Amino acid sequence: MTVETQAVKLTETAETVLKRRYYLKGEQGEPVENWEKLCRRVANAVALPDRDLDDYEELKDHFFSLIYQLDFLPNSPCLMNAGTGIGQLSACFVLPVEDSMEGIFSAVKNGALVHKTGGGTGYSFSRLRPKNATVSSTQGVASGPLSFAAVFDVATETIKQGGKRRGANMGVLRVDHPDIMDFICAKEDQTRFTNFNFSVAITDAFMKALYDEAEYDLVDPVTCEIVERLNAREVYDKIVELAWHNGEPGVLFIDTANRANPTPQLGEFEATNPCGEQWLLPYESCNLGSINLGQFVKGGEVDYDRLARCTRLATRFLDNVIDCNVFPIPEIAEMTMKTRKIGLGVMGLHDMLIQMAIPYGSRNARELSSKVMSFIRRVSQETSEELARIKEPFPAYDPKTNDYTPRRNAALTSIQPTGTVSMIADCASGCEPYFSIVMVKHVMDGDRLLMVNKHFERVAKEEGFYSSELMAKVADTGTVVGHSEIPAVWQDVFRTAQDISYGDHIQMQGNLQCNGVDSSISKTINMSNAATKEDVRLAYMMGYELGCKGLTVYRDGSRDHQVLNTKSAS
Ligand code: UDP
Repeated sequence: MTVETQAVKLTETAETVLKRRYYLKGEQGEPVENWEKLCRRVANAVALPDRDLDDYEELKDHFFSLIYQLDFLPNSPCLMNAGTGIGQLSACFVLPVEDSMEGIFSAVKNGALVHKTGGGTGYSFSRLRPKNATVSSTQGVASGPLSFAAVFDVATETIKQGGKRRGANMGVLRVDHPDIMDFICAKEDQTRFTNFNFSVAITDAFMKALYDEAEYDLVDPVTCEIVERLNAREVYDKIVELAWHNGEPGVLFIDTANRANPTPQLGEFEATNPCGEQWLLPYESCNLGSINLGQFVKGGEVDYDRLARCTRLATRFLDNVIDCNVFPIPEIAEMTMKTRKIGLGVMGLHDMLIQMAIPYGSRNARELSSKVMSFIRRVSQETSEELARIKEPFPAYDPKTNDYTPRRNAALTSIQPTGTVSMIADCASGCEPYFSIVMVKHVMDGDRLLMVNKHFERVAKEEGFYSSELMAKVADTGTVVGHSEIPAVWQDVFRTAQDISYGDHIQMQGNLQCNGVDSSISKTINMSNAATKEDVRLAYMMGYELGCKGLTVYRDGSRDHQVLNTKSAS
């Protein structure tokens, strides 16, 4: 059987990104690949573990079409490194930080080795003794988690990820660690810890104390003694104040995550990867990939048959990545092979909704998105069970502890940010709404070029309301809302991140989390610049109550350097 492949036309932005960072380069630094060659390289490398299976030849073509047509893209390290000899194909790692000099500095070294190959690392600093605790070997006092986090930060600064991207870290501290107040305030100064996202690991005990307006215990992780009691509301207010101030710290609901730990027999979750979508045990790694949902709408409906085929192939692809991966250190190889976690997610969720004329903030959008995500989760799980029968279940699978059917992968789904791969696929990133509909690109001689969202352009032309004056007005105001030329129904459908209420953002995240996401979701809860601290306070509580495993809020304009800007793109 031959595999049909649709011809694709990449956007100019996609070609620029690919040329700069993904295509293999010759001796003079010139790209020696194009999109087709890159896809062949990746497909052939990732099919290789199945070379003894009957469908091997066909599988290479299937993997090729999947990526080439932009129906599914694996995470950047896979696109960059597969079949190149570097061979480290994963985006996510969590490394333990033990409470000893040797433990801390071996984590720094391991992190450097991961960054070198393009992976991002998460660390929990919760095991480190608090500042001023005794150090018996030197009769001195400990400098505490934050001072060591600074060492990780400097090490990251000096290592570019495979020369292609900056190192990224997640730093986690439990809310019951004695140094928690310093940690919460650590990034108030935006010039510090610039290679880290910081998140507070919030426990159920803390949330209970918060609802009860009570105090809770701070515990020394080494002696296990209660060293202090703090008022939960005061700590929470501080987190809220700082997050309102500039978006950090984020929060991770660690007990919610551990309740869904698929292999509790191997240990507890302490941290996530840098963008928060993947909870991992110490030394675990995970490779991610995203289905481009905008590609699966046909005649105004989701084409579930095609989505099922894509999900099956994508699951097999990500499972194979584990077998052809070259892991940076033996501990990571060992842990990853034990649980064989993969992170299958989505991008272009907003493209799907727009094509079906459903506003992102509506109940309809949440219901459809949940249905699609749980469909992907179910098909992925069936595929993983089938792979377990053909190959074998993940080695740590234990029928006595694990109350599910044997499968090949301990975790299947998570929703990654797709910061770069969504640019290649020309779609909205991950499960986020579009950030803007008309962007301004400043070109030479001070001219400005308007870049109009492809769906909006099509609809505006079909419905007869397209004009360059209108596009300029949308660019200048940063929104489609409030322009009388645009019919009300389309003003609703084309609402972007800032036009959608924070409650609707969180409800989307909560619905996806509880309907089809095993691990977690990377999502920003956008708020307007006028949002209050009370809004942030309610947002975190709402996220917890809806079953989210973490939350990041961002108030427009609250950071010195805002990565995305509604009005300009360069
Ligand atoms: N990541 C990283 N450095 C970066 C961007 C991402 O290490 O500059 C890691 C990090 O673990 C993040 C994951 O890759 O959570 C996925 O990020 P994203 O989806 O944006 O990556 P893409 O595959 O689109 O490049």
